[in-house]
Amino acid sequence: MLQAHLPQSGTRLVNSLTAISDPTHQEWLEQTLHLALTHRQQGGRPFAALLVKEGKLLASAVNRMLEAGDPTRHAELEALREASQHGSLKGAVVYASGHPCPMCLCALVMNGIGAVYYAFDNQDAAPFGFDSTSSYDKLRLPLSPPPLPLIKLPSPLPAAALYGAQPHE
Ligand SMILES: [Zn+2]
Repeated sequence: MLQAHLPQSGTRLVNSLTAISDPTHQEWLEQTLHLALTHRQQGGRPFAALLVKEGKLLASAVNRMLEAGDPTRHAELEALREASQHGSLKGAVVYASGHPCPMCLCALVMNGIGAVYYAFDNQDAAPFGFDSTSSYDKLRLPLSPPPLPLIKLPSPLPAAALYGAQPHE
């Protein structure tokens, strides 16, 4: 479960999770949400992704669009880039705070990612302007059937807690 008081560093949280033997999909995803929330609180966009292969964490990343001034630096792509240093990613699993956008989904499919677990779908994100529905529509990319398993898991926090106005805004 998410703790009431978030530590300063999302990375430390993830590192602490790696000490747990065999985390569940839900536990990995909750750590991803921690990272996304921490990043949002630090002024970044509220997205994070972990990349795990054979139970081993290969990358943890957040969305760097604002910091880098680069619209392609989505969390999933950041995780993919980092994890690629470790070799083939075929069959690896991605945990994402939000449903991947088409750009990220393409990259994940092209690199053999086996499944994506996420917390918030486009419907959850739409009221806050964080959904990628219009891009999917423009590209005419239906998600049924999905190109790889896209599995939504329950979130311990509501979408507004991650995507809504933050105290510093
Ligand atoms: Zn994306």
